[in-house]
Amino acid sequence: MTQVCLTLTPQQAADGQSIQKAVARELRLPFEAIYAYRIQKRSVDARQRQIKVLLTVQAFLSADEAQLPPYEQPLYRDVHEAQRQVLIVGAGPAGLFAALTLLQKGIRPVIIERGKPVSERKVDIACLNKNEGIRPESNYCFGEGGAGTFSDGKLFSRSKKRGNMQRVMELFHYHGAADSVLYEAHAHIGSDRLPAIIRSMREAILEHGGIIRFEEKFTGISREADGAIRILTDRGTYTGEAVILAIGHSAHDTYRLLAQSGISLQPKGFALGVRAEHPQWLIDDLMYHSSPLRKQGLLPAASYSLVTQVHNEFGQRGAYSFCMCPGGHIVPAGSTAHSGVVNGMSASHRNSPFANSGMVVELHPEDMVSYDTLQTGDLLSTEAALECLEWQEKVEETSWQHGAVAAGQPESAIAPGQRLKDFVEGRESKDLPKTSYLPGCIPSRLDQWLPPVVSKALRQGFRDFDRKYPGFLTNEAVILGVESRSSSPVRIPRDPETLQHPAFPGLYPAGEGAGYAGGITSSALDGINAALRIAGE
Ligand SMILES: Cc1cc2nc3c(=O)[nH]c(=O)nc-3n(C[C@H](O)[C@H](O)[C@H](O)COP(=O)(O)OP(=O)(O)OC[C@H]3O[C@@H](n4cnc5c(N)ncnc54)[C@H](O)[C@@H]3O)c2cc1C
Repeated sequence: MTQVCLTLTPQQAADGQSIQKAVARELRLPFEAIYAYRIQKRSVDARQRQIKVLLTVQAFLSADEAQLPPYEQPLYRDVHEAQRQVLIVGAGPAGLFAALTLLQKGIRPVIIERGKPVSERKVDIACLNKNEGIRPESNYCFGEGGAGTFSDGKLFSRSKKRGNMQRVMELFHYHGAADSVLYEAHAHIGSDRLPAIIRSMREAILEHGGIIRFEEKFTGISREADGAIRILTDRGTYTGEAVILAIGHSAHDTYRLLAQSGISLQPKGFALGVRAEHPQWLIDDLMYHSSPLRKQGLLPAASYSLVTQVHNEFGQRGAYSFCMCPGGHIVPAGSTAHSGVVNGMSASHRNSPFANSGMVVELHPEDMVSYDTLQTGDLLSTEAALECLEWQEKVEETSWQHGAVAAGQPESAIAPGQRLKDFVEGRESKDLPKTSYLPGCIPSRLDQWLPPVVSKALRQGFRDFDRKYPGFLTNEAVILGVESRSSSPVRIPRDPETLQHPAFPGLYPAGEGAGYAGGITSSALDGINAALRIAGE
């Protein structure tokens, strides 16, 4: 088995014979000597007009070589009678991957999840999209698979530090994701495929003796005399040798409950802004230099990743695009009745006519805490953390007021929107373009009511992005409010080595809600790492 790197045209990369020819040429072998090949990495380089596809390919010269599986298959052990039991709160990527790892180590996972199984959750989400009101325990944030289930399912992380990302891709693949997750530089699964994958993970956990309790909410934690940890839920109690707390970043009630139980929290920086949506053809033209290859189906729906540094009276801070969903939909991603929150998702084919992305501004605890807290200078306290949560909630409530309430339908998820150029130039939008957002939107002065630290940086940011890609700043694009769940404004502290809460040994805060991960891949990895620590590795 030999590895080769190829640079091909999109036409060549779409044709198996052309790839095999290129492999043979590279290895100086006749075409027939290549028994088979497997793509290991694929990315599109569209920086120049001449668009290229970069491939890393494994070439097999015999049938035996080609039969080798692409990765080591997970070995889940039967834990029905296991001596060791670990409790996991939350069935998002962190909780599920922790459970799958515990199974491999012969430890029984018991998952407590406040939301519903994925198929029932779909029904609640359909109601939300039809403006029939939000179900506080079953929505885009809560339920089996966590916030990652009805998402774009992008599987990459900006962080290079967190260990073996490839293992996460392999587990997704093992449970049903397409082969492309193993090699695409910017792999994604799609919201249409994710539910089946999550269901397969659940079946593996249950079949091997793990336990999952749906519609059951964690409400408290204590330690038994023998050192075991006991958790309370709204339906019962459970004990285990350790607890992995993988609650995601939307469970504000649970953060508050932890604080009341003496589990300290800390504020942390996060990012907040809006979701911008352009017609997909416009982004394709900007990113692919109007290449006809896109219309010929030889290039995927184009995406962008934009970042700029803004200097103004609030200091210097980053403004950047976040969680871009080409060919996707904007969705209502709040978890309470009075939160006007949006996010984005896309199906596996990314074939909607819209391209959306979060456009967010970096915020520091100093931007969110009260004047009194700033004066004390104690920006690591639980109180300061709770103030950051309140700040975030206030922005979300303001967005709800300007959307659903202003539209006269407070129970709905109608969002406030403004055309992009109008936002930057401080003008009212008389109407809004067609959008992918099913609940609907109404014109609103986001330029006036977003926190100034956010709106000023965003306006500058959009001008900078237009300098990089002229035409990006257009009134054919719209922004909807608010993109406020990019990550958590609080952290649940933990020891960097043991991953346990410093004041509560045996408690392993993990995933995005703990403040150490952002996105599906890094949250899943964080869950794996917590499970490995518990297993003694
Ligand atoms: C619409 C949308 C699209 C997204 N798209 C992407 C993307 O394409 N790529 C990407 O990398 N990231 C994406 N994200 C972010 C990603 O989903 C999260 O980063 C990731 O899911 C975090 O994983 P987690 O396990 O830490 O937490 P979560 O996924 O938030 O899971 C936490 C779970 O804990 C449960 N829970 C909370 N409190 C309690 C309690 N008290 N008792 C019991 N259970 C509780 C919740 O119900 C939830 O199921 C998206 C998010 C959304 C909302």
